[in-house]
Amino acid sequence: MVFLFIFGAVFGSFACCQVWRIRKKDKSKFSHCLHCKYQLRWYDNIPIISWLSLGGKCRKCKKKIGYAEILAEVGLAVAFVLSFVLWPNREALVNIDILEIVKFVLFLVQLTIFTVLFIYDAKWCELPLGLMLGSLGVAVVFECLAIWPNFDGFNWLSFAGCLLILPGFYFAMYKISNECWVGGGDWILCLPLAVMLGDFWLGLMCVFAANVIGSAVMLPVAIKNKNKKMKVPFGPFLILGFLVIFFARELIFNFLVI
Ligand SMILES: [Zn+2]
Repeated sequence: MVFLFIFGAVFGSFACCQVWRIRKKDKSKFSHCLHCKYQLRWYDNIPIISWLSLGGKCRKCKKKIGYAEILAEVGLAVAFVLSFVLWPNREALVNIDILEIVKFVLFLVQLTIFTVLFIYDAKWCELPLGLMLGSLGVAVVFECLAIWPNFDGFNWLSFAGCLLILPGFYFAMYKISNECWVGGGDWILCLPLAVMLGDFWLGLMCVFAANVIGSAVMLPVAIKNKNKKMKVPFGPFLILGFLVIFFARELIFNFLVI
């Protein structure tokens, strides 16, 4: 778990760096300060520790680095550990089942991609298409590995239902409202989420969870700014809703059986 925490923090730092690289179409090899272009040394790049020791400021110009960096590093570190603790087939993971380990690693890769999408959408209300397609690729491989050992028992109808309820629903909202209620990227982000959930009921619950989380977070903000027109990024809520449902799937299935 300590190893996963450190790994998560490193990938959180990497994810945050990628957000700016994608935004600024930056291909430079080294990270630098956005204000004074100070090229970061290795000791400025230690996840969590560097941010805390510098008080969230650049070493040279002392301008604020921002909270996204530390939140991404701590957030992904915790997410990596929680993924292991809550993993549906943890016994296979502990017993070093190769298939399960590959699935787990793919899931961690997906979490890292989600972190980039989460920050990008929260900052600019946009979702980079290339990254979402990359996420879809990871999701397809993940689901193939999940279905493969039990190919005959897979419920394809439920899988199709999940595609209809998640990406289908947001695509319809996007088209009907002329991009007013949800953005054009949200339904594409729903594709990898739906593929990884792979079940109609889980898809429906994901829509529900995303909307509950979204309302809980945005309602107080909306009441405060009631006279202003607001643009709300929905991607972060979809990702959070997905994570809740992905790890609560056993609970949900038990409930449905009852
Ligand atoms: Zn600086």
